[in-house]
Amino acid sequence: MAQSTAAPMPTIQTVTPLPLRTLAPWAVFFGVLMLVLLYFVGAEQGATAVLSGEGVHEWVHDSRHLLGFPCH
Ligand SMILES: [Zn+2]
Repeated sequence: MAQSTAAPMPTIQTVTPLPLRTLAPWAVFFGVLMLVLLYFVGAEQGATAVLSGEGVHEWVHDSRHLLGFPCH
């Protein structure tokens, strides 16, 4: 009656980090995307408006107040 009660050891897989050369274009892309979003939330009204009308301003109006940008 020689049975082993030890459970088999799980194998550990290592994850290789993403190289900076692969990550950098995505970081720049999302950085620019966030800047555009920040512009539309924070400055898209009045003299700095890119799009005519109040549609964008009204659409992001609650976000503007939540983030503390001056509005009205
Ligand atoms: Zn407002």
